[in-house]
Amino acid sequence: MPMLYFHNMTGRFAPSPSGYMHIGNASTALLSWLQVKSYGGKILLRIEDIDHERCKKQYVDSVFEDLIKLGLDWDEQPLFQSNRENDYATALEFLIKKNLIFPCSCSRKDIRKSIQGQGESHQSYPGTCLNKKLPFEGPYSLRLKNWDGYPIVKRSNNIWSYHFTVVIDDAYQEISHIVRGQDLKECDPLQNHLRKLLGYGFPKISHAPLWFGPNKKKLTKTDGAVSLRDYYNKGWSPEAILGHIARGIGLNKDLGPVNAEDLIHKYESYNWDKHYVSSREVLHL
Ligand code: GLU
Repeated sequence: MPMLYFHNMTGRFAPSPSGYMHIGNASTALLSWLQVKSYGGKILLRIEDIDHERCKKQYVDSVFEDLIKLGLDWDEQPLFQSNRENDYATALEFLIKKNLIFPCSCSRKDIRKSIQGQGESHQSYPGTCLNKKLPFEGPYSLRLKNWDGYPIVKRSNNIWSYHFTVVIDDAYQEISHIVRGQDLKECDPLQNHLRKLLGYGFPKISHAPLWFGPNKKKLTKTDGAVSLRDYYNKGWSPEAILGHIARGIGLNKDLGPVNAEDLIHKYESYNWDKHYVSSREVLHL
């Protein structure tokens, strides 16, 4: 079947440098890269470092190193969310002018208490401060009015929310195709709602299979999950890691070492729906 080429197709890697990359991150990055490469598009790198309490320079460096080792190259200069404050502030101002944002003074404890009072059926922040008319300049978190649970856009410690920054940056970088973990699927409706409010287009979003650790829990960067560098330290090559990933996500039948380039033609018949529901377990080291 002839391949369709999207000359404006733009994908992205969007890692948060809050820990070393693990197999799950590499697997999502690989699928993103393959999607773009097989359709002749470009792929951009965005470092999602808005949470300055959790993100560290050593992890940023390791993202570059790990992607390069795996042969997952990117186009253009990486974008750092920590440099994007002005655009976030402009978008916030736009939503405030549209009367879509309210300040909230509730602490986590206050919210826990109000949730307890709601019973089993409803478990989200009930909008306690919605009509309090607190000043926007105060030490408050800022929340969105017209969405269930009134999601935070900016925290009281001035950290922007993931949802808010991700949609602004995907629009800024003109991302047409997003690949991210299945665990983020639940974020799609809110993010698309924000896109609509901000007048942005809607990228196509695909969800990559998740990987589990030996404890049967989803791998996360922050709980010391087995990282790519643990594999390298045990003597694995980047190609062996890619082979393990490719077999795990159903791209390749063999477990043998492969190059990212060699997987491009395999991706052309990749069935996202078939592999979507499955989860993979990392090999024990
Ligand atoms: N920064 C997020 C992460 O590292 C991914 C965000 C996204 O793909 O939308 O998990």
